[in-house]
Amino acid sequence: MTFASIKELRRFVTPCATAAQADLDARMATVPSVCSAGCDACCYQMVSVHTWEEELIGSYIEGTMHAATRAKVRRQLVEWWKHLKSILRPVSRANPLALGDVQALAQYMIDNRVMCPFLVDHRCSIYPVRPAMCRAHVVAANPGLCATMPGRVGETIGVHHMLATFGPGSPHLPFDKYVHAMKPLAFAMTGALKVPASSTPLTVVTLGELMPTRL
Ligand code: SF4
Repeated sequence: MTFASIKELRRFVTPCATAAQADLDARMATVPSVCSAGCDACCYQMVSVHTWEEELIGSYIEGTMHAATRAKVRRQLVEWWKHLKSILRPVSRANPLALGDVQALAQYMIDNRVMCPFLVDHRCSIYPVRPAMCRAHVVAANPGLCATMPGRVGETIGVHHMLATFGPGSPHLPFDKYVHAMKPLAFAMTGALKVPASSTPLTVVTLGELMPTRL
């Protein structure tokens, strides 16, 4: 499907993404969890966002987020990009970032506890529309370990629930209608936050490549 405008695209994908997130939340509500409000231990890494969620998060930033919060997130995203550019290999259209580069970058962010630019005063500034990856991440025991184990893996059932709601078999996302892929959230939100990040070509990374389809 082609969309005549961003408005038309948003009108189509936003209800689908909202339904998929609500379904994921309902499934995650049944998963035993010791995560609590105010804990941000898992927000010091690079999270990725599904293409279907980009418009939802972008319109929240542009239309709902408080202006002062938006200004702070923008500053943090500018700093995040400066940091990224200082460590990234030269990238061009002919030599784009590939899956291995993104995975190495993700590991760097974990090892160096690089804060997600959307974290403000220890809280997620896009919480109502936060990515599926964040919604599906919980731990069932020993929350104190999260502070000493950067990149601590969440409960495996969260991955199952994410695949059920955002994977190829999702009942909410008609995959013949729109792109099915993932990219780093910080890459996806430069437009919404008007951050002048230079183009960083990225080969398409599908959900199946970032996440195992069988566990
Ligand atoms: S999007 Fe929100 S919940 Fe997810 S890592 Fe960033 S601050 Fe944390």
